[in-house]
Amino acid sequence: MKILVVGSGGREHALCWAIKRSPLCDTLYCAPGNAGIRDVATLVPLSANDVAGITAFATAEGVDFVVVGPEEPLVLGLADALRAAGIPTFGPSQAAAALEGSKGFMKDAVARFGVPTAAYGRFTDMGAAKEFVARHGAPIVVKTDGLAAGKGVTICQSVDEAYAAIEEAMVGRRFGDAGAELVIEEFLDGEEASFFAICDGTNAVALAGAQDHKRAYDGDQGPNTGGMGTYSPAPVLTPAIEAQIMDKMILPTVRGMAAEGKPFIGVLFAGIMVVTGPDGQPVPKLLEYNVRFGDPECQVLMRRLKSDLVPLLLSAAKGDVSGQEPEWHDEAALCVVMAAEGYPGDYLKGTRIGNLPAAGQVDGVEIFHAGTKEGADGAILANGGRVLGVTAIAPRVADARSKAYEAVDRIDWKEGFCRRDIAWRAMARGL
Ligand code: AMP
Repeated sequence: MKILVVGSGGREHALCWAIKRSPLCDTLYCAPGNAGIRDVATLVPLSANDVAGITAFATAEGVDFVVVGPEEPLVLGLADALRAAGIPTFGPSQAAAALEGSKGFMKDAVARFGVPTAAYGRFTDMGAAKEFVARHGAPIVVKTDGLAAGKGVTICQSVDEAYAAIEEAMVGRRFGDAGAELVIEEFLDGEEASFFAICDGTNAVALAGAQDHKRAYDGDQGPNTGGMGTYSPAPVLTPAIEAQIMDKMILPTVRGMAAEGKPFIGVLFAGIMVVTGPDGQPVPKLLEYNVRFGDPECQVLMRRLKSDLVPLLLSAAKGDVSGQEPEWHDEAALCVVMAAEGYPGDYLKGTRIGNLPAAGQVDGVEIFHAGTKEGADGAILANGGRVLGVTAIAPRVADARSKAYEAVDRIDWKEGFCRRDIAWRAMARGL
């Protein structure tokens, strides 16, 4: 098969790495890709958001299957355009991608489907938003309705903080049009995790869970980021909790979306808060849906996946995942993100990264590139905020962590930084 992956991050490098190992894949393209993806795929110089360009390329090249990595092209309708051109595509339609594109749409939809989630209100009027906050008190969470690159969520510890967040979004337009409508919701106190399921429009198969680290610095300090490191499996997602997530969230959502004429084809990424229920038992509640793999969760999932990724994704694109049973390595995988100094604020671009081959030789380590490009002299240059995902696999989380940091320490990049405490919760559990 000729397969095209759309995107340029660490997630897409991990997807390309897994797809390239499939005996079903003869030719692999990636648009636009990065300096690491170039080792496994032919790069196509088209932006991930260039719906017309990518559709024309896939048609002209006779591409058999397209896997869309990021949310933006999905929200722009890339999967619809590709399917209209007759090309099997892994990724939801524009209508179904609204589960991520609009938090208000998502909350209303899951309320109709009976999914356990935080109580909420939707607001376009500032007075009504403030009144809701006054009625509910703090802590409370203020979210922009639209996509805001993961930055549109403010956890407010006081009512005044919530008023300020509402004003900043609605009057200050800090997040542009994304903040014209707000979702304000109950604060959920618990342990967070990410869960993934592959959906074919009417049915779903569970993938696995992972735990991300959103804050920039050790000890969960500093600003929120796209994610600074992950590990899988996530101990908080016990088999019983995962079964509840499938039965009470994923399956009702897939069936509900189908019944409402917006079948969901792709990976449903449930952001979960495991809270303590009234009887003292842990209970999963849905924080949010994303309509694509997490980045950097994808890196650890692909590292742990033992079975072939291509038939799994293709079966979803073709509308029938029944009989698909993904197999996993028993080992744990852990990914440390290396970011450019200054990230998630302004960061330096174009700095040189050395010694990657030696770092990649640490046993069990794969280095997935995110924001990298090749310099004129063949050197690897930083070209984004999050730049590398150093990913290791080992029987225990603690060993995977040692290996990942051993590789990190071999990398010669003085303008880069990473967190040193990835998987601290697993370490605290003695794993
Ligand atoms: P979201 O983009 O909706 O996942 O929100 C970003 C982050 O904010 C989540 O990963 C959580 O850490 C936090 N968050 C979002 N909603 C809530 C909530 N209702 N209660 C507590 N934390 C939340």
